[in-house]
Amino acid sequence: MELEQIPHRLGITRREFMKFCTGVAATMGLSGGAAIKMAHAVANPRRPAVIWLSGQQCTGCTETLLRSHHPTLETLILDMISLDYNETLSTPAGNLAEEARHASMKENWGKYLLIVDGSIPTADGGVYCKIANRTIAEHVAEAAEGAVAVIAMGSCAAWGGIPSSDPNPTQARSVQELIQGKTSLQPANLAAISGKPIINIPGCPPNPHNVLSVALHFVTFGTLPELDEENRPKFAYGRLIHENCERRPHFDAGRFAIEFGDEGHRKGWCLYKLGCKGPMTYANCPAIEFGDVGGGAWPIGVGAPCFGCTEKGVGFTRPIHSLADVKTHAPANPFPDVNQPVGEGASAGAAALLGAVGGAIIGGGVMASRKLAQADEAGSEDSQSKE
Ligand code: SF4
Ligand code: SF4
Repeated sequence: MELEQIPHRLGITRREFMKFCTGVAATMGLSGGAAIKMAHAVANPRRPAVIWLSGQQCTGCTETLLRSHHPTLETLILDMISLDYNETLSTPAGNLAEEARHASMKENWGKYLLIVDGSIPTADGGVYCKIANRTIAEHVAEAAEGAVAVIAMGSCAAWGGIPSSDPNPTQARSVQELIQGKTSLQPANLAAISGKPIINIPGCPPNPHNVLSVALHFVTFGTLPELDEENRPKFAYGRLIHENCERRPHFDAGRFAIEFGDEGHRKGWCLYKLGCKGPMTYANCPAIEFGDVGGGAWPIGVGAPCFGCTEKGVGFTRPIHSLADVKTHAPANPFPDVNQPVGEGASAGAAALLGAVGGAIIGGGVMASRKLAQADEAGSEDSQSKE
């Protein structure tokens, strides 16, 4: 297909299509040249086959792709890949669906992409998730053998997610653990699959732009983007949410919402004391946001603390309102300790510190007094601009 025909088929202008490809390239830190290559790759009629299996999941990962716009991602993803099997989207059902999947796997053996959403139950031989009378663990192991790479989509597939929360009755585990033989279920073809390239795209649900960017990278260059030690794409999970959060100046200045709906919450102050896990969660949510509706449309932007859905050991594990571990700098010394539990007042150490700062001000501590004055000024400017 000619490049010129693609925007027409997607119902957008050529300019919008190129803008979209440039945006995806920029998300991954690639050049404008890569955007042009991506546009041509989408025009290539030889689309890679994709087999999409679902374990213990809520269908949110499929829904997140279907609910995006500008252009509609489902149109683009259905046009640039050949989605040969997806339980939610496939037209055939039952035996017909199984036959279609096996035919596609046979025809594209060694070349197709395997996407898995949902966790893998491993208790009692894996019986808690079965499709066509076989466990999902068997299906995933079988499909992984012929895949060029495996994408674990969403937190459940990437690290266990909600089904793995304590007490984890089904012993839900990640796709990576199954494929690498790190569960009680040992796939019969473990030797053939244990070295398969795996890319984890956690999130509940994962941002569709991250999934699409990985797919576009694969379609264009035939490789996966650079990964971190958790096998997550670095372009999406390389920075803490806290580093890019628009409320960060309030954190640094010691201005926190203490209760939902209080003055600080209404003024857009930092949500740390409401349990925000941004300081210990790696994701690009503040940079690319959600829903394609524009400025500030992401959880913290609309006043909900981040609960760390992308981070193993944080999302669905740590109590929602518990304080996060701060991996970067805490507010400067003139402010109370951020880890001070709500309602207990300042600790003896913090009180002593504040006393010392007060003494420094009275005694002519010029730098400390300037800092406090600047913080107050910023606070009153902020409240004026929001009023
Ligand atoms: Fe933003 Fe949360 Fe960090 Fe506050 S604690 S700056 S709301 S990420
Ligand atoms: Fe997940 Fe936090 Fe991003 Fe919300 S803001 S989607 S909880 S990582």
